Amino acid sequence: MTNDKHLTELIANACHFYHQGWMIGTAGNLSARLPNGSFWITASGCSKGELSPSDFVRISPQGQVEQTSPSLKPSAETAIHQVIYKLFPDATSCYHVHSVEANLVSRFVQGDSLPLPPLEMLKGLGVWEENPKCSLPIFANHLQVTRIAADIEERFTKSPPDVPALLIRDHGITVWATSPETARNYIELVEYIFRYLVAARRTGIEEFG
Ligand SMILES: [Zn+2]
Repeated sequence: MTNDKHLTELIANACHFYHQGWMIGTAGNLSARLPNGSFWITASGCSKGELSPSDFVRISPQGQVEQTSPSLKPSAETAIHQVIYKLFPDATSCYHVHSVEANLVSRFVQGDSLPLPPLEMLKGLGVWEENPKCSLPIFANHLQVTRIAADIEERFTKSPPDVPALLIRDHGITVWATSPETARNYIELVEYIFRYLVAARRTGIEEFG
């Protein structure tokens, strides 16, 4: 895939998520890893509904800025993408959005895992079990993003997650995948599950753990 193709995919997916209400303002960040290990990530402060190819920064596997226009800064949350690519060598796409539902469900439990309902939709996230009991890891939000990234690295090194996704409390969801199409599907599936959980709580169906 050429750089142009990577950027075209990122722009299209950011626009799609923006129109779902999941990348409002300049929130969220998407990245695509290149075969040499560097990755393109959305620049800080850009509206995700109207990105252009000049709104991206290329980061080395070690976290250094490799290519950008002088006025741009990489996303403030670059450290999270960097650690995800380090932990999951097959991942080539990492997407992070801020939805209302992601923030609501992150308050449904006090612990560091959100039990997921045993929905058919979990198959789309790679869970092929009857009545699966899996959960989504939750991390505390910190102003200093490198602290969140360090927490992710420490926890996932000891125990890998059930699904290719993680939730930062009162902040948003991050997924990773081996292609941009799959990462986009993962975001949509996880957001569906969040909407289900919010609706289930409203209707009194709450217990999944
Ligand atoms: Zn964020």
